[in-house]
Amino acid sequence: MTSIGTQPPQRTYDVVCVGCGHHNLIAAAYLAKARRSVALLERSAVPGASYAPRN
Ligand SMILES: Cc1cc2nc3c(=O)[nH]c(=O)nc-3n(C[C@H](O)[C@H](O)[C@H](O)COP(=O)(O)OP(=O)(O)OC[C@H]3O[C@@H](n4cnc5c(N)ncnc54)[C@H](O)[C@@H]3O)c2cc1C
Repeated sequence: MTSIGTQPPQRTYDVVCVGCGHHNLIAAAYLAKARRSVALLERSAVPGASYAPRN
């Protein structure tokens, strides 16, 4: 698992979001703002799903 944030990977989280589509990205941002620890898991190399930047 790649850790994108500045914090080292944890073993436990308050919330685990499977998939980095825009809905989960927004939900994770709100949860982090509410000081919950969140793991965002994405199976592809780039988050954002259909809204991810393409070359
Ligand atoms: C053909 C098509 C056309 C569409 N056209 C429109 C349109 O014109 N306008 C519109 O508003 N909406 C459209 N939609 C709907 C829109 O794409 C979705 O409603 C929206 O993308 C859902 O966003 P989401 O964040 O919930 O999930 P998604 O954008 O579906 O993202 C899900 C993410 O989760 C990841 N993932 C899935 N399973 C796993 C797993 N097991 N482990 C790890 N990662 C996982 C995926 O790789 C992906 O990155 C269309 C949908 C389709 C299928």
